[in-house]
Amino acid sequence: MSLEKDCIFCKIIRGEIPCNKILEDKEFLAFLDIKPINKGHTLIIPKVHCKNLLDFPKAEETDFIEFTKKVATAIVKATGADGFNLGMNNGKAAGQVVHHAHLHIIPRFDHDGLVSWPHKEYSEGEMQELQKKILGFL
Ligand code: 5GP
Ligand code: ZN
Repeated sequence: MSLEKDCIFCKIIRGEIPCNKILEDKEFLAFLDIKPINKGHTLIIPKVHCKNLLDFPKAEETDFIEFTKKVATAIVKATGADGFNLGMNNGKAAGQVVHHAHLHIIPRFDHDGLVSWPHKEYSEGEMQELQKKILGFL
């Protein structure tokens, strides 16, 4: 298991910083976010240190979804949520503050007052041009 000395989530994995644990197995740990967007907001982290989705260990991807579904089901039941957001900030520009890959499970309630991101418009032809550019990297 590879952990980083100064990473706050690696410290939680090592038990050097306490957390309110929800579920743990050999690959992942789920615990309550200390500053929840809504109460019950939970983080899921791999036990191997990686920065974000792009260097997430391939062998653990499928298990990660299964683990997440199990935790999300319990959170929805326990909080009586009407839905939940699954979120992952990848990189500083995307709002990632802790650079150990993690998924946010945020319970949502009808009329909880949280607003979604604003949407933008493409100019004429811009969408097709960007689509082609992205396809060139696949
Ligand atoms: P990010 O912005 O990197 O996607 O999210 C990091 C999350 O980790 C934040 O929601 C923050 O509240 C949470 N967090 C940061 N430090 C700790 C901690 O020591 N314990 C717990 N439980 N959550 C933390
Ligand atoms: Zn780490």
